[in-house]
Amino acid sequence: MAVTILEKFKSISPAEFFYRNKEIAGFSNPARALYQSVRELVENAFDATDGHGILPNIEISIDRHPEKLNVYRITVKDNGIGIPGEYIPEAFGKVLFSSKYVLRQSRGLFGLGAKMVVLYGQITVGEPAEIISATIGSKKVYMYRIAIDIKENKPIILHKAFWINTTNWHGTIVRVSIEGDWGRAKQKILDYVRRTAIVTPYANIVFKTPDGDVYVYPSVTNKVPPPPKETKPHPHGVDIEMLKAMISETKAETLLDFLASEFQGVGEVTAQRFLQTYGFDPSKKVKELTAEEIEKFVKCLKEYNEFKKPRADHLSPIGAELIKIGLKQILKPEFVEAVTCKPVVYEGHALIVEVGIGYGGSIPPSDQPIILRYANKIPLLYDEKSDVSWKVVSENIDWKYYEIEFPAPIAILVHVCGTKIPYKGVGKESIADVPVIEKEIEEGIRYVARALKQYLLKKQREEEALRKAYTIIKYIPEIASALSIFASANPEKIDQKIFEAKLFEMVKSKYGEVLKNISSVRDVVIQSE
Ligand code: ADP
Ligand code: MG
Repeated sequence: MAVTILEKFKSISPAEFFYRNKEIAGFSNPARALYQSVRELVENAFDATDGHGILPNIEISIDRHPEKLNVYRITVKDNGIGIPGEYIPEAFGKVLFSSKYVLRQSRGLFGLGAKMVVLYGQITVGEPAEIISATIGSKKVYMYRIAIDIKENKPIILHKAFWINTTNWHGTIVRVSIEGDWGRAKQKILDYVRRTAIVTPYANIVFKTPDGDVYVYPSVTNKVPPPPKETKPHPHGVDIEMLKAMISETKAETLLDFLASEFQGVGEVTAQRFLQTYGFDPSKKVKELTAEEIEKFVKCLKEYNEFKKPRADHLSPIGAELIKIGLKQILKPEFVEAVTCKPVVYEGHALIVEVGIGYGGSIPPSDQPIILRYANKIPLLYDEKSDVSWKVVSENIDWKYYEIEFPAPIAILVHVCGTKIPYKGVGKESIADVPVIEKEIEEGIRYVARALKQYLLKKQREEEALRKAYTIIKYIPEIASALSIFASANPEKIDQKIFEAKLFEMVKSKYGEVLKNISSVRDVVIQSE
């Protein structure tokens, strides 16, 4: 007898999808969830400040819930651009709702982070999330308490209020209670905040932990990197779906106008030439392209090599200067160097790699360089070994060539920024080993490692010279005394002190720089006693 199997079909909302698959967004257990929540809220705070050229003042606090065990209240306050009142509920209560779905470098990109925090709080604790915000120049400050309707993927507004913005304040305060594990998350969260401070030396960051400790990272410069700008897609970076979306939104009528107005780096002349090369009619109505024509168009766009390279002036690298300041301030090394590499292209998107190095000082020795990884200024802490930087540092570079013998006190900072980063997964914790990125990171590391090598060789030479000079100086008193005995037979009596000084001058003029801190023979004799 045949058995009929009746399958039940249905679709679920994005909120429900992430409710069922929390781990892919980084919320796999209470420790990781606490870390991820802090991260998401802090990243939003930075996007709203330095992402718009504002010097960030960011306060993070994690408090134990007064009544509930293993529950923490996370509060993140920023002085950013704020969120218009009418968008607050959806920004925090509708999964895949974002202001960052444009081609612009930002920390956030999936329209997910804040909602995951709210969702996780809702399912583990059940208290509403509270958001207070005012945009720049807003006469009112808005406050919302919200939850998420998971089935419908929309915010549930539990309370709303506003008050008059008497102090001209702008920014956002987000407060969410979630189940967490501070004991197990502590180290990662402290690391996260510290590593954030390294690449944002222009930010004031205050972090209060549930143990009552307060970590303050004061800003040490008021130079904030030029904020990222929105850009148009490069012809090499579009696919069929993207092209369809662009066509449906464009105001251009003809194919020629469309190409010349909607793409980065394509002017009328280039557009003409491109259309001619592939036999497209420039006056064809762009909205009338058939599916086959669209497919062919995308293929040709990708193939054509005469377009200008994607521009990188819309990106916001940290800059070598700030990287050096940050590394010096936080790691307190004896040597730092940094470099911003030339922009490269990854799948039609410009991408910039920056590398910094710190050596010695307070950096603890380890068996391989400590790697500080960043993508679009976000510190990446998990999945280190699957990241492209790990591969380059541990496989591609022969550190002996750079005079480094492990264990050595060395830290390497790698920052990748761009409008498209090949993350491995939505948790955004590691970058895939795409050849062009691997090559850039390797070149960047070689650059700073060469500078370190020169520094170390110079230091070695100086130490060697100093040793020699010391050896000679140590004999000066004896020689001087011998000479003064000789001299005493002469009518002009010269005493030992003068001989000493003369001999010391001779040695000093030969060894110069390395003896700059030594002012007399006594200094050396006393030191070596
Ligand atoms: P994403 O950051 O990927 O866009 P989120 O869910 O984290 O997604 O945030 C959704 C939107 O809410 C953001 O795009 C932004 O417009 C707004 N937002 C969230 N936090 C802040 C904040 N601290 N300041 C200003 N806007 C914010
Ligand atoms: Mg975000």
